[in-house]
Amino acid sequence: MGAMSTTASSVWRTPTALRAYVGGAFWLAGTAWSLARGESHEAAWLSVQLDAPGLVLLVGALVAGWNFFPKAVRSVRRLSLDMNFLMTVAIFGALLIGEPIEAAAIAALFSLAELLESAAVHRARRSIEELVRLAPQQARVVTPAGEETIPASEIRKGQRVRVRPGEKIPVDGTVVDGESAVDESTVTGESVPATKVLGSTVYAGTLASGGYLEVEATTDGGDTTLDHIVRLVKEAQSKRSPSERFVERFAKVYTPTATGLAMAVMIVPPLLGLGTGVEWFTRGLTLLVIACPCALVIATPVTVVSAVTSAARHGVLIKGGEYLEALGRTRAMAFDKTGSLTHGRLEVTDVEGFDGTSAGEVLRVAAVIEARSEHPIGRAIVTHAGGVARVREKGEPRAADVAVTDMVTDFEARAGRGVAARVDGRQMRVGVPDLFDGLRPPPRFEELERSGRTVVLVGEPDRLLGLIALADEPRPGAAGVLAELERLGVHERIMLTGDQELVARSIAERIGITDVRARLLPEDKVRIVRELVEEHGAVAMLGDGVNDAPALATATVGIAMGAAGSPATIETADIALMADDLKLLPYAVRLARRARRVIIFNIALALGLKLLLALGAVLGLVSLLVAVLLGDMGATLVVTLNAARLSRVRPAQPGSIVIP
Ligand code: ADP
Ligand code: MG
Repeated sequence: MGAMSTTASSVWRTPTALRAYVGGAFWLAGTAWSLARGESHEAAWLSVQLDAPGLVLLVGALVAGWNFFPKAVRSVRRLSLDMNFLMTVAIFGALLIGEPIEAAAIAALFSLAELLESAAVHRARRSIEELVRLAPQQARVVTPAGEETIPASEIRKGQRVRVRPGEKIPVDGTVVDGESAVDESTVTGESVPATKVLGSTVYAGTLASGGYLEVEATTDGGDTTLDHIVRLVKEAQSKRSPSERFVERFAKVYTPTATGLAMAVMIVPPLLGLGTGVEWFTRGLTLLVIACPCALVIATPVTVVSAVTSAARHGVLIKGGEYLEALGRTRAMAFDKTGSLTHGRLEVTDVEGFDGTSAGEVLRVAAVIEARSEHPIGRAIVTHAGGVARVREKGEPRAADVAVTDMVTDFEARAGRGVAARVDGRQMRVGVPDLFDGLRPPPRFEELERSGRTVVLVGEPDRLLGLIALADEPRPGAAGVLAELERLGVHERIMLTGDQELVARSIAERIGITDVRARLLPEDKVRIVRELVEEHGAVAMLGDGVNDAPALATATVGIAMGAAGSPATIETADIALMADDLKLLPYAVRLARRARRVIIFNIALALGLKLLLALGAVLGLVSLLVAVLLGDMGATLVVTLNAARLSRVRPAQPGSIVIP
């Protein structure tokens, strides 16, 4: 596939393209001229007429044919006969029997077909590179002297840049001053602008539409989320998918077989006295033309490139055709609960102390430990404690209650269970009952759980201080998304969670999941995903990329949500949903399903057409010209157009998913 590696800015202006145009023009002119002369002639050995139209056609055949000749010589040297060799033989064969119209047609039309396919792949590539080009090239950085304009690629982490209203943000960073609505569609695909205030994260290439921002860079220029996206999409485009590998293996057998068949057709029947040598030679040449696997070979890659590129523009990063195809056929999907099906912004609803311990003390201990945790539960507790502290600051002078000045050492996150640390020298834990040596939680614990709360215990390994109950809500639209997945054929939907059974069930019921597996440690999630893969062949798993990384890696397709802010997640997930938005999930599935159908259709079309034409060629019903026009040019055109249609699949617009 030499044509696919072209890097020129436009495939329509390369020397290859030029030869195709000139060859094509000579072919048309020569054909018209000889038709106008009204001469009809039969194919015969060495009967090429060196009259004026004949010469025009000969030039056409040689000029366009030059696209294949040098490569054909190389393929012979390497002893691997490829399509360049087939075309060269076909062109000279047609000239040999005095069919210059066919010779020029083969040369010109095959050249055009090659152009067409590289243009299709190119257009998709360019549309991704455009994303980066859309990011500003210059940035205004704040210097001790005032302000300096430097190339965006030279921004260093920690520098401050100024973004005026209507300008694009040149680097990933944190807002340190100002406030603005920011259109983040280039990164997340989300068309509704987000409001960015002090402390918000912003991305390179997004547009500050409403106000002034001062941003402290959190990455170097050239290493932004957008740069990652573009690099990963490019890598994805060049990776081979399973059907592509299958077709390539098939072509390795198909082409020599068809070539052998063509030779047999040329030689055997005349030897048996079944007609003239020239007649069978022509049929053999037609078979050679059909033996070119072109449309078949490009059927998958053009589809994958088109789908992957279009997905990236809508905020879904698909790391290769492999995952696209797997998602296209998966019937089973596992979901992490916290942060994926629920929005993960938990709220503390109850804080209670046991045996005379005050609620404030329970919260203080939990908060100082959780300040080091990245878990949504941890963040909720810290936020709640901060809120309480602020209230107290105004009222009574007891802010020290939640000061984060306590000595916290030996912090340890126990995945799926909680956190542990030493606070002022005392061993402390926050999390599930298992964390505490054989202690049974009081009845109040289960009472709160029954009401759908996530409840964590706080205490020393052998002494409980109290509990904290948190409420998490299903994401708005989650029920609609799950219903749509059902319509798309994802019939098995399984919730995997480290949370307790009661809590998990109450959330699952509200969004329409019946298969709930609760109280799982990360390794249990991995084991269950592995079992699901065995049972269903392909399993997709939606998770948050950090806590769920092992399970995501075990699934056939690991899908991470809200990946825009986390480069590590973008790198490790098979599919990354950039926005923290569930509606991207059915979009990705829909796109993958369509892509899979297009791939199957394209391969079937290319193969079916070739088989039909081959049969017709042997029977003498299909002429050389028809074989070229339909079997190659036509098939390539249909296959590429079909693939291009995928860019019309779009995520649901806000509001079109029913929010229950
Ligand atoms: P999920 O599978 O729902 O994402 P996790 O596996 O992350 O849940 O956590 C499972 C359980 O472990 C939580 O419900 C909670 O009880 C406990 N847990 C995990 N992390 C923490 C933490 N930082 N603080 C307190 N409890 C935690
Ligand atoms: Mg989780």
